[in-house]
Amino acid sequence: MGKMTGFLEYKRCSNGDIPPKERLLNFNEFHTMLSEDKRKEQAARCMDCGVPLCQSAMELSGMVTGCPLHNLIPEWNDEIYNGHNEHAFSRLAKTSNFPEFTGRVCPALCEKACMCGQYDDAVTIHDNELFLIENAFKKGYIKPRIPGRRSGKHIAVIGSGPAGLAVADDLNHRGHSVDVFEREDRIGGLLMYGIPNMKLDKKVIERRQKLMEEEGVRFFTSINVGKDMKSKELLDKYDAIVLCCGAKKARELPAAEPGKVGGVYFAVDYLTQNTKAVLRATDRSVKALKEVGGYVNAEGKHVVIVGGGDTGNDCIGTALRQGAASVTALEMMPQPPKERSNSNPWPEWPKTLKTDYGHEEAIHLFGKDPRVFETTVKKVNTDKKGQINSIETVKVAFKDGKLTEVSGSEKTIPCDLLLIAAGFVGCEDYVTDEFGTKRGARGTVDTEEGGYMTSKKKVFSAGDMRRGQSLVVWAISEGKACAKEVDEFLMGYTGI
Ligand SMILES: Cc1cc2nc3c(=O)[nH]c(=O)nc-3n(C[C@H](O)[C@H](O)[C@H](O)COP(=O)(O)OP(=O)(O)OC[C@H]3O[C@@H](n4cnc5c(N)ncnc54)[C@H](O)[C@@H]3O)c2cc1C
Ligand code: SF4
Repeated sequence: MGKMTGFLEYKRCSNGDIPPKERLLNFNEFHTMLSEDKRKEQAARCMDCGVPLCQSAMELSGMVTGCPLHNLIPEWNDEIYNGHNEHAFSRLAKTSNFPEFTGRVCPALCEKACMCGQYDDAVTIHDNELFLIENAFKKGYIKPRIPGRRSGKHIAVIGSGPAGLAVADDLNHRGHSVDVFEREDRIGGLLMYGIPNMKLDKKVIERRQKLMEEEGVRFFTSINVGKDMKSKELLDKYDAIVLCCGAKKARELPAAEPGKVGGVYFAVDYLTQNTKAVLRATDRSVKALKEVGGYVNAEGKHVVIVGGGDTGNDCIGTALRQGAASVTALEMMPQPPKERSNSNPWPEWPKTLKTDYGHEEAIHLFGKDPRVFETTVKKVNTDKKGQINSIETVKVAFKDGKLTEVSGSEKTIPCDLLLIAAGFVGCEDYVTDEFGTKRGARGTVDTEEGGYMTSKKKVFSAGDMRRGQSLVVWAISEGKACAKEVDEFLMGYTGI
């Protein structure tokens, strides 16, 4: 264990945040790391409780708690406390391909199940993980691991989000030759164009790409499979194909359709344009962004975001940096409690109110939480040019399991930019149509019971495309499990 009495001696101390006033001036990451001595204290808080629920990924009351990658958390906490950072990293790398992604964006399912969290604050597992991987890159512990022998098998991975990258990484290290095809101009999926730069600096993805290329993975960007390249070409050339195309089909808002009403956009399209502009700019400042232009600009506008979650919060943070005049986030669900309710005990996933970085920034700027719960958009109003200028909102309530409008609760609020972050309803049809793979009721790709092979032989699928919109850690976990199955399919047994 870390230190026998560590959990009694030290209080939890998370990585710091640059204050909103300062960080709103740019798109740089805003977390600051603890010193190595402080990190040791945080690792010392791990009790090595004997039943490490933190690494269990248990399903309790329909929600998973504990790490889906089964990261060996107590082991590396112990090694950090004892100053064996290289060994700690080697234990982390055993189960996780990309701790630099999860250490930045994972909602830390592990911490929700941490034994310390039952009566006190959980161990800073997520921050400890980030420390280990960044320290490993800094100290040169990470070197390209080039397979000694190649199997002669060739695999095409379609889509380079975290699922596709995990599939490619594991199959490459096993000795197979892997080509990754990506329709965007850069790899990373929603890590690149979705999650904004202030949460995950795009250089972090480029660093991983370089390493994977040195290890033998080949990336082909700006190739839209199903449009620029037909399935036959891939099926003829490769021994196996893995579809990791995500679940980008956005849930529509009946009251306002992007393209038909000016000033209405899907959240991911808005975020993508902004990140592309940030990457074109000379630096990551808001000033440099304005100079390059070519993105949907919230400057001076009253912005309304429909839908909460990570996507809605990222839209708030982005719109505020662009200089929005106001931001309102509409959420259909009731406001969750601040503390766990009796019916939601530890170590279940806590259904509590999460105030994320975008919310904090809005509170700093406007003095109030931007979220309005149990409310949706009833109608949009436009000017003569068809440009949105206000919306009518209405309160909603669940009655007998059905969502109903509360009559008389309508309100008109100014809105020059409406962003739809109402979730996703599955993968895009053209890829599954092209490969002739079956889709299920949830709009995702159907695979064998408990497995990753689609209805088409030698075509597999993993990540959001199979699972539905989820989390980065699940995409990596699916990618790893799928790589195992592909290896078994190719070799008759698996060495992964
Ligand atoms: C705005 C936003 C913020 C989020 N924030 C978080 C967060 O903070 N933490 C977290 O854990 N999760 C977060 N998520 C969820 C997380 O990003 C996804 O669950 C995860 O990226 C899914 O990985 P994936 O590899 O399955 O798919 P994706 O990341 O969607 O990648 C799919 C890739 O396939 C490519 N592709 C699709 N079709 C084709 C084709 N025909 N040819 C070639 N390429 C193709 C796409 O361009 C894309 O690059 C967020 C999601 C969004 C939308
Ligand atoms: S990947 Fe997520 S759940 Fe797993 S240890 Fe890291 S922060 Fe925790």
